[in-house]
Amino acid sequence: MSLPVLAIIIPCYNEELCIDITTEKLLSIINNLIDENFISDKSYILYINDGSTDKTWDLIEKYNKETNSRVKGIKFSRNFGNQKAIIAGLTESQKYDTDCCISIDADLQQDENKIKEFVGKYNNGAQIVLGIRNNRKTDNFFKSFTAITFYKLMNLLGVHIKINHSDYRLVSKEVIQTLSTFKETNIFLRGIFNELGYKKDYVYFDVKERINGKTKFTPLSLYSLAMSGITSFSIMPLRFVTILGLIMSISSFIMGLWTLYDKLTGQEMVPGWATLVVIIGFTSGIQILCLGIIAEYIGQLFQEVKARPRYIIEEQLD
Ligand code: UDP
Ligand code: MG
Repeated sequence: MSLPVLAIIIPCYNEELCIDITTEKLLSIINNLIDENFISDKSYILYINDGSTDKTWDLIEKYNKETNSRVKGIKFSRNFGNQKAIIAGLTESQKYDTDCCISIDADLQQDENKIKEFVGKYNNGAQIVLGIRNNRKTDNFFKSFTAITFYKLMNLLGVHIKINHSDYRLVSKEVIQTLSTFKETNIFLRGIFNELGYKKDYVYFDVKERINGKTKFTPLSLYSLAMSGITSFSIMPLRFVTILGLIMSISSFIMGLWTLYDKLTGQEMVPGWATLVVIIGFTSGIQILCLGIIAEYIGQLFQEVKARPRYIIEEQLD
């Protein structure tokens, strides 16, 4: 069997402070694996510059020249978000006869020394290898609380994503080809790879501190990632709205009958202002929440119906 061509896919958004160290470390890993006859010498690093406004792209261009194309690059026309950047990397890797791709963050928070283990599992027949973090020590309280709540909620909603798996994963070219038949614009990768089936395996790793710079995610972009994860994988919240509506109308009907009965039997009615106000406040709150849930899905539909391209590539360095 010929040695597999490996691509390391790295989404970058304003990572000028990380690219040097990251490139150096990953090149040395690739070179070692080639020397050990573990991967083909056509293996490479593929940076996807997700609309950075700093020197990220200049650095990628520099390394592309210096390494004689061992480092390749894709430049988006603007910022499309890291999920789109990873998809672009996977899709474009197929141009270079790639057998498997590993996606990893530019800040190398995920332990790059595990790459060999990923490839080993691939050589043993796994088509998808998921990196699972051992702990969340580097996350602040807000991040780990929201992340864990999100995973729990998703599982409750029937979407079985692997807890503590971020986007550090290896996928084979067969998986990438299958993925390319999924036409939706908003793809939540952690969910979709679970949906695909295929033989899976896992690699456990420790999370490190970011090598340089700050996180590129804002609370708003994390919220939109979570929402697109939920709305693209589960209709449970919509069903919940229907059931809630049903329960509320049945109980108000019974309450109506009750009041009527009281009136007919001549019971004295207490003017229950407070109760009334509470009930009205509560029901309108629920109604607005339900409208919000429905609106999230309509928003998702709206974007899918337009079927715009997921991303626009402005420049590519082969
Ligand atoms: N990223 C990206 N586009 C964005 C935001 C982030 O390509 O709009 C990249 C970023 O450069 C990094 C990866 O996604 O390689 C993960 O981002 P980061 O390390 O900032 O996230 P965190 O580790 O804080 O969750
Ligand atoms: Mg990070």
